[in-house]
Amino acid sequence: MWLEQFYPDECTESVYQIDFAAWYQKGYRGVMFDIDNTLVPHGADATKEAVEFFGKLQKAGWKTCLISNNKEARVKRFNQEIGSLFLFDAHKPSRAGYQKAMKLMGTTPETTLLIGDQLFTDVYGAKRSGIYSILTTPIHKKEEIQIVLKRRLERIVLHFYQKEQQAGKRNKAEQRKRQADGETKRKRR
Ligand SMILES: [Mg+2]
Repeated sequence: MWLEQFYPDECTESVYQIDFAAWYQKGYRGVMFDIDNTLVPHGADATKEAVEFFGKLQKAGWKTCLISNNKEARVKRFNQEIGSLFLFDAHKPSRAGYQKAMKLMGTTPETTLLIGDQLFTDVYGAKRSGIYSILTTPIHKKEEIQIVLKRRLERIVLHFYQKEQQAGKRNKAEQRKRQADGETKRKRR
């Protein structure tokens, strides 16, 4: 289905819950983050939690890049204590920003993660660039009207995405059951 181009590779409640050590073990080295509503509420400064979070990532050997469609002043203000690589006016979902972010980090689509809260910008651009995407629940519920409208469309896409995920899980469960049944039959023989 054409909606699949907007499906994230996975979803998470919060960026702060992701097991980055596990991703590092799998060979990932670079992670790009949307800022607004992914790391902090829209327009907010970096929180203590965010500063510590980036400190830990950098210490663990990760390259990080903020990738924002927002303006230079906003991104720089957020990044003051974070000290990450960054891109402002990134024009997500255009592929150019993702390419530039990877170039800054020295990573490839195979070793890079994208984490963001919007399907039609963050996730869609990552998918077009071959980058693994993780969708977060937006931090703040109160949003501008154009985002509210986009959220309604996102809900439609996520509805189909979740339905397919559940169908996938059901198929796997049935497969396991069939396998188990087969094994008991073989044992009985
Ligand atoms: Mg956002």
